[in-house]
Amino acid sequence: MDSEKCCDSGCTPCERDPDGKEPLDLCNYVGGEFVCHSGDDWMNVLEPATGHRFARVPLSSEEDVGAAVVAARKAQPAWGALSISERADWLDRIADSLEARYEEIASLESRDTGKPISLARAVDAHRSIANFRFFAGLLREHEQEVFKMVDATNFVIQKPVGVGALITPWNLPLYLLSWKVAPAIGMGNTVVCKPSENTPMTADLLMQVIDEVGLPAGVVNLVHGDGVGAGAPLVAHSDVDLVSFTGGTDTGKKVATSAAPAFKKLSLELGGKNASIVFADCDIDSTVAGVVRAGFLNQGQVCLCGSRILVEESIYDKFRDRFVDAVEEMRIGDPSDEATDLGALISGEHLEKVSGYVELAKQEGGVLLTGGEPCLPAGFEHGNWMAPTVIEGLSSDSRCSREEIFGPVVTLHPFSGEDEAVTIANNTRYGLAGSVWTGDLERGKRVSEALETGMVWVNTWLHRDLRVPFGGVKDSGVGREGGRWSLGFFSEAMNVCVKHD
Ligand code: NAD
Repeated sequence: MDSEKCCDSGCTPCERDPDGKEPLDLCNYVGGEFVCHSGDDWMNVLEPATGHRFARVPLSSEEDVGAAVVAARKAQPAWGALSISERADWLDRIADSLEARYEEIASLESRDTGKPISLARAVDAHRSIANFRFFAGLLREHEQEVFKMVDATNFVIQKPVGVGALITPWNLPLYLLSWKVAPAIGMGNTVVCKPSENTPMTADLLMQVIDEVGLPAGVVNLVHGDGVGAGAPLVAHSDVDLVSFTGGTDTGKKVATSAAPAFKKLSLELGGKNASIVFADCDIDSTVAGVVRAGFLNQGQVCLCGSRILVEESIYDKFRDRFVDAVEEMRIGDPSDEATDLGALISGEHLEKVSGYVELAKQEGGVLLTGGEPCLPAGFEHGNWMAPTVIEGLSSDSRCSREEIFGPVVTLHPFSGEDEAVTIANNTRYGLAGSVWTGDLERGKRVSEALETGMVWVNTWLHRDLRVPFGGVKDSGVGREGGRWSLGFFSEAMNVCVKHD
């Protein structure tokens, strides 16, 4: 693209800063070109840590969505006709180019989300690159399944589904977008991405990378905007064949309602209210460290966070005291400081929601052990700050113990015996993940299997192997992504049965 122009459509409203690298006003990416959206509506993107305006994101419309879907449809046949190893090579090229921008990804993600820079590096930048690399490797290893009968052979062919809508949330922006884009295009689909309007910066960076490496036009398209203006029309578009959505459960319901009548292939990765179950025979030092990390990583804004901590009665007091000490030792403040453990919450609106749950916890009989107050580090008075908060004394039936808060707030609950631990853990509409902390690995596996979730970790948390299935049950979602499950979701399996002579 000509750096003198704001975008390839030749219009002028988009501003880029003088060196042309950092867009202040973002553009959509459609058919291999950066283009302005059709309307005049914009949303300010604010840095969560400071409240400063960071950029403006276009609020695209149905018309913009339609143009992106047309571009994706046009590109699909040629892209789908490439061999799987040719598409794997493209994923590696994207990974190489992202790798060259590792620091830029981390810095943009930290500014855009308010998360500490060390976390943005280790988790967001690292995984975004790893996702493309991993799926490139998996595609190359992918072998056609063959089932032999006495008198015939079945060949399973995995065809592209067509045009995919990929919709992502704000907590792990590029990490989650790349987790969808890589397997989707790897299996021969073309896509239209709709990242969260709150955190559009690294999605824009990914489009720059895709443009630089010269990916065929229309294979990956991106439409910025909010859920109502851009997300809903994308899901509803009659020429979209599949929808991969990660976000809140209530939004997931709307997406499912819209996609169902057209029988679109649908994957929903939704909210969670996960339990960390601590048995008396655990290694207390590593368990306290692990459960603090599970509770507060990314300010508790990870769908997998263990926000309900169930502790066996006999060590409840000891664990609680050690846990609260460890929480109070976390350093909260400037996300760009290497030493920071906790940054800001995504928005003022979200801070209000999380603070509302702390007030509700008090009404429900909860006792605050630490935190509970918005905290404003010096120099960051206009950001969205909340001290890490630990609450005890709530009934496991209370709303705060069962609903997703999605912030730096955890509740502690004593239990006696495995059965009670499992009953409390399952006492929620959600079923995403959990962790079990015990010195008895047989018990760890037994309790894990009794949990109504899609994933459980024993004596660890968020220890990810990209080959394994990822997803939830109950109100946490439908379907699985990850490894070969992603390849399965982003393709249509067709069986060809050939009768022998
Ligand atoms: P959200 O549901 O508000 O938004 C997610 C995305 O959907 C955004 O891009 C948004 O613009 C879009 N959207 C909103 N309304 C839409 C509609 N009607 N049709 C189509 N798209 C629409 O979620 P959020 O606040 O961005 O993210 C937080 C939620 O995401 C939490 O509940 C968290 O647990 C969940 N989450 C789940 C996973 C998982 O893998 N299960 C991972 C990360 C986050």
